[in-house]
Amino acid sequence: MADSMENRDGLIWFDGEFVDWKNANIHILNHGLHYASSVFEGERSYSGKIFKVREHTERLFNSADALDLKIPYSVDQIIDASYQSLKLNNLENAYIRPIVWRGSEMGVSAPDAQVHCAIAVWEWPSYFTPEEILKGIKVTLSEWKRPSPETIPCKAKAAGLYMICTLAKQKAESKGFSDALMLDYRDQIAETTGANIFFISDNEIHTPIPDCFLDGITRRTVIEIAKDHGFKIVERSMFIDDLKDFDQCFITGTAAEVTPVCAIDDQEFIVGDEIKKISATYIDLVNNWSGD
Ligand code: PMP
Repeated sequence: MADSMENRDGLIWFDGEFVDWKNANIHILNHGLHYASSVFEGERSYSGKIFKVREHTERLFNSADALDLKIPYSVDQIIDASYQSLKLNNLENAYIRPIVWRGSEMGVSAPDAQVHCAIAVWEWPSYFTPEEILKGIKVTLSEWKRPSPETIPCKAKAAGLYMICTLAKQKAESKGFSDALMLDYRDQIAETTGANIFFISDNEIHTPIPDCFLDGITRRTVIEIAKDHGFKIVERSMFIDDLKDFDQCFITGTAAEVTPVCAIDDQEFIVGDEIKKISATYIDLVNNWSGD
């Protein structure tokens, strides 16, 4: 059983005030819980600086807009509260989880329900084990797919979309894999359950076009890093049959950082110098981040 997130010490920013970790509660008749009217962010701080905090916070506001949730704070107030949360919890290297949700109102349509906002921070060193990061993770193809943009606001980091990720990742883990690769509604390669995916062949890096899933902040960062290293980046429609054309594969995300993939089911990949170079540059960038 995973440790409960409820019984911890610390302070959580909750609707503009800091409350004790154990008292950061909501009522059971909550629109966010019943109807998934909730959006969130996942950020990481390195030595006290939150990597690309403004981009993350702006994405939080865009996600909220997509679900018709009006956040009663400004981007700057949320950034400020994120830093205060780190300080009051004495954390420098941490995971930051801002969340926005529609409050206690029952009924599918609840345009006047209060919109709430909270920020929790905690120590979360690595998404995968050190061995997995070194040797690469094993991934399996999921039966669950990313939906069409006509069916859901697919660019939002919205709680409802994670139902698919939870189903896919739990099934993969139960079969001994670390993660699942999801195709999209057209059977094109999309992403894993919490990260974007890249494939390397010689000096080219291919990655799916993010037209029905999150265009990750790490994804965009890594594309810039790869271009700086002289790689040719090809964003295109990719299919399972294309995997055999590549000898390296990695995933990117705030939590996953740059993690090599050693296999997608029977298709094996090596962890080559190219991945190591990109990963090292990313780690260097986040650890020396001085922007906002
Ligand atoms: N896809 C999904 C489903 C994710 O949960 C994440 C993590 N937020 C990503 C991609 C990568 O996004 P980012 O690099 O902005 O963390």
